[in-house]
Amino acid sequence: MSAADAEADRLLRPPSFAEFAGQDRAVENLQVFIAAARKRGEALDHVLLHGPPGLGKTTLAHIIANELGVNIRITSGPVLEKPADLAGLLTALQPRDVLFIDEIHRLSATVEEYLYAAMEDFRIDILLDSGPNARAVQLRLEPFTLVGATTRSGLLSAPLRSRFGITARMDYYRPEVLQRILQRSARILDTPIEEEASAEIARRSRGTPRIANALLRRVRDFAEVKGMGTITHAISRTSLDALLVDEHGLDEMDNRILLTIIEKFRGGPVGLNTIATAVGEEPGTIEEVYEPFLIQEGYLQRTARGREVTERAYEHLRRSRPETGRLFP
Ligand code: ADP
Repeated sequence: MSAADAEADRLLRPPSFAEFAGQDRAVENLQVFIAAARKRGEALDHVLLHGPPGLGKTTLAHIIANELGVNIRITSGPVLEKPADLAGLLTALQPRDVLFIDEIHRLSATVEEYLYAAMEDFRIDILLDSGPNARAVQLRLEPFTLVGATTRSGLLSAPLRSRFGITARMDYYRPEVLQRILQRSARILDTPIEEEASAEIARRSRGTPRIANALLRRVRDFAEVKGMGTITHAISRTSLDALLVDEHGLDEMDNRILLTIIEKFRGGPVGLNTIATAVGEEPGTIEEVYEPFLIQEGYLQRTARGREVTERAYEHLRRSRPETGRLFP
């Protein structure tokens, strides 16, 4: 992500549940758990948020902290190299604070193990001195809430997963919900946008708010340079086409997966590992990041014998289905 994108992410990030669109089930549950924790004056249980990138996991972590009325500290799996990195963060937490660990599936085994006691008993061991004088002392931590985010929940170890009391899966957003998000973003960016233009961008954003907001900013550039500043339907169409944004919001890898199954495997069924090798991506990433959208949108199906593309995939990629080899279809 570029610095400008990161800045826009911050600017457009809803600060409260009231401004957060969609993910109704996750939001309703979280609101109950947060209200209960507040009432008891306790830290909220640890929360695991999982789902594809750009769907609002970081945003929800911030909202959880806001609604609890506490501070949030932010880090990520690959940044925490040694237990000492984690100890530094944990000991700085105030009572009931939120610690957000993004990409929590990328924690090293030693850091992960160190986290267990912190999550369970709010205590950690700290090594004082080194060499012959080294000794471990136990340190009590303030009760806190760990919010972990992952795009690859399949990679989480069972012991780590079991230490989260609350788990929420993030789903792709329906175009109507993305359209509401886009209208809010356009207001914040002070850019007038036509109803059909926001619908057009929403349809082509792969069910993902981060993509929707990024496209909005690009289309706004076109509206300012080539138009009168308002994002009209015509401008949204021509600029999305100029940006080579797929008609249905599929990205390059989505299309590559479908095309590979069609061209190399006669539309399937074909196994996940075979597809992964053919497109040069990890099987787990295909399964957890790409497939859910393709299946939800009806381009792909999982059968007992493997993955198969649907009629819709042939239509989308303008390919014709191969002969079945049977006399009567
Ligand atoms: P993740 O952590 O899942 O990758 P983020 O929380 O960083 O995703 O969200 C990416 C961007 O999308 C943020 O800038 C935020 O403004 C926007 N966004 C995500 N979810 C929503 C939502 N439900 N409503 C409004 N904006 C959202």
